[in-house]
Amino acid sequence: MKTTGLHHVTAIASDPQRNLDFYAGALGLRLVKRTVNFDDPGSYHFYFGDAAGSPGTILTFFPWPYARRGQRGSGEVESTSFAIPANSTSYWLARLKERGVSAKTIASDFDHEVLRMEDPDGTLIDLVPTHHTAATESWAAVPEEHAIRGFHGVSALLDDVHPTAGVLTSLLGYEQVAEKNGKVRLQARSTTDIPGRYIDLIPGPNAPLGHMGAGTVHHIAFRAANDEAQARIRGELVSHGLQASPVMDRSYFHSIYFREPGGVLFEIATDNPGFATDESREELGQNLRLPPWMEKSRDRIAEILPKITLPNH
Ligand code: ZN
Repeated sequence: MKTTGLHHVTAIASDPQRNLDFYAGALGLRLVKRTVNFDDPGSYHFYFGDAAGSPGTILTFFPWPYARRGQRGSGEVESTSFAIPANSTSYWLARLKERGVSAKTIASDFDHEVLRMEDPDGTLIDLVPTHHTAATESWAAVPEEHAIRGFHGVSALLDDVHPTAGVLTSLLGYEQVAEKNGKVRLQARSTTDIPGRYIDLIPGPNAPLGHMGAGTVHHIAFRAANDEAQARIRGELVSHGLQASPVMDRSYFHSIYFREPGGVLFEIATDNPGFATDESREELGQNLRLPPWMEKSRDRIAEILPKITLPNH
């Protein structure tokens, strides 16, 4: 077993309050961690997910209030999708409309139906109704029978889908399960209980290159069961000529990063130690958490960070 699927997806936002209101409010995800960008402690890093902060449910944001809009394009993630229970489409259409979010059902090559919307920064978010939802722990903001069940997957727009498909199949253990109109769907070899198993690769040979900014995905992270599994994957990447970073301590997981041949930044993140390492499960997301080396600057950091109102459940 190499990876069982997505661990998290990290995207860029602008206004932190608008970002919170959309993901914790409209989509009803739990804010499972409120910390800072370790490389830029004057700005937040928000983690949204299921009630337990399970890998495969976590969408994270760097909300930079003055971030300029990015541009989706080749070499980037196109859309990020969450799984919802089958027969929840009308619930979600009504809920989103009530909250001023315009969403529409779109045609899909691989799924029966997809409910698509843009977040306040223009990030493409899909809800995919499915009978095969994963065993995640829903947060109380949405009735249990309709709540988001973690990621369905992501899609990426690529000049050529084949080199990326090669890395996913030969080094990360994905298998190709469908192909239509030049698009390829890959699936992690994991049980249906695990969220975030799909990666769709979309050919866009003449598409303009994407550029980073608010409304674009910065990177996607795949799960490694533990540090040993991560080290094995890293060894394989390096032996195939990919430049993988050293292991970085992200407090809630350990990470390595590499750029796949199509241009998307990939990360391998460990399941351990998880989000309940520095606050209890009940408290997740309630307090500003800082890594130990920033604690001495807590007052100053708290003063610089934009003021926000937390979702109240
Ligand atoms: Zn990451």
